[in-house]
Amino acid sequence: SNPNSLAARDVASLIHPYTNLEKHKEAGPTIIAQGDGVYVHDDSGKRYLEGMAGLWSTSLGFSEKRLVEAAVRQMEKLPTYHIFNGRSTEPSIELAEALLKIAPKSLSKVLFANSGSEANDQAAKLVWFYNNALGRPEKKRIIGRHRGYHGITVFSGSLTGLAHNHVDWDLPMGPVLRTDCPSHYLYGEPGETEAQFTDRLVKNLEDLILREGPETIGAFIAEPVNGAGGVIVPPKDYFPRIQAVLRKYEILMIADEVICGFGRTGQMFGCDTFGIEPDIMTVAKALSSAYLPISATLISAPIAEAITAHAGKLGNFAHGFTYAGHPVSSAVALETLKIYEERDIIGHVAEVSAHFQAKLRSFLDHPLVGEARGVGLIGALQLVTDKASRTVLPAAAGIGALIQNAAMEKGLIVRASPDAVYFCPPLIITRAQVDELFAVVAEVLDIGLAEAQR
Ligand code: PLP
Repeated sequence: SNPNSLAARDVASLIHPYTNLEKHKEAGPTIIAQGDGVYVHDDSGKRYLEGMAGLWSTSLGFSEKRLVEAAVRQMEKLPTYHIFNGRSTEPSIELAEALLKIAPKSLSKVLFANSGSEANDQAAKLVWFYNNALGRPEKKRIIGRHRGYHGITVFSGSLTGLAHNHVDWDLPMGPVLRTDCPSHYLYGEPGETEAQFTDRLVKNLEDLILREGPETIGAFIAEPVNGAGGVIVPPKDYFPRIQAVLRKYEILMIADEVICGFGRTGQMFGCDTFGIEPDIMTVAKALSSAYLPISATLISAPIAEAITAHAGKLGNFAHGFTYAGHPVSSAVALETLKIYEERDIIGHVAEVSAHFQAKLRSFLDHPLVGEARGVGLIGALQLVTDKASRTVLPAAAGIGALIQNAAMEKGLIVRASPDAVYFCPPLIITRAQVDELFAVVAEVLDIGLAEAQR
């Protein structure tokens, strides 16, 4: 192969996230060169339907001119500034107001950051600062869940409940506790109903809190629908019941809306869909349709008041990022929120998602598919070797990767783990494009089945 090709230069110069770096040396990357609505093109001109909206993020597709124009306008006016040291900028203020207008009503103030990981780190630090403010410095531990994904910085990576993000990274580090993943399909005991499963998880959480001491636990963090950990949709009354336990012990609810936020689940936030009243909420990704890096941590009035008073006493709120509330990122995010409203993106998702979810569930007839799960425009097919015993495909079979690569060959980008295939298309996807997506899925599942039966 040509040593001057972009792929060869990539291999020579880059270390890639979430990549088998040894295999990457031979295979090299696909170079994505251009965006076009829900599609992207590689550098040979081949077109792919982006069934993952990039990294669960590009809600408005890959060629939204209004976002480009918003960035250019702000670049020309004030290309960079900060909100430190008694200064602020109009885009940051307007974006904070716009966020608070659509956020769950329990939230009253905004802190910006640049990524989902930072927003979650920031959430944790606020829990700590808040409990110091209240004079209970021991109430610091944060409960995460198995299969939760909250990022990869040292502390957000510790909140993440996935082994591969911990092994050989010296994580988890810091005050973290862990509780159950709410997948009835994967973790329900034989014969256990969904209601009994929820009862058990709620009891396990309360037992954990009592065992560890409620006075040592400051918060609980959860994605309304787990993304990277498997697109896990919780039982209907799971969150209200979990939240009742948390309230009883004055443990804050942090909703990680980094994937679910801004319409993904069919309502503005996953909190709206699942009955969560967060004390803290984190958003990123679709906040700017991922066109520029920006994230936010939203907090309730009691937290905002306590930290303001405490910072007053200390003489300083010694926390913040150089690029927090960056004016160009903020302007693009603000335009993104305007587009959601003007084009009634939530209404569109509510409509197209009925078709998307029905199509997804039609694969339950396929011999490889044990569960088809999802809500709104996010979903997964659980791949099994045996439907009755719910035995998931073993990692060693390599079927997930095979399916992902076969889809890519046929012009569809999806994500697969060893035992599941995930879908999270741009929110602007049409009914016809949903059909196009699942037509390829039907073909590649058969390729996976043939390999599994070999
Ligand atoms: N939280 C959730 C739910 C995510 O899905 C992600 C990223 O995929 C993160 C946090 C971390 O965000 P980032 O990669 O921007 O740091």
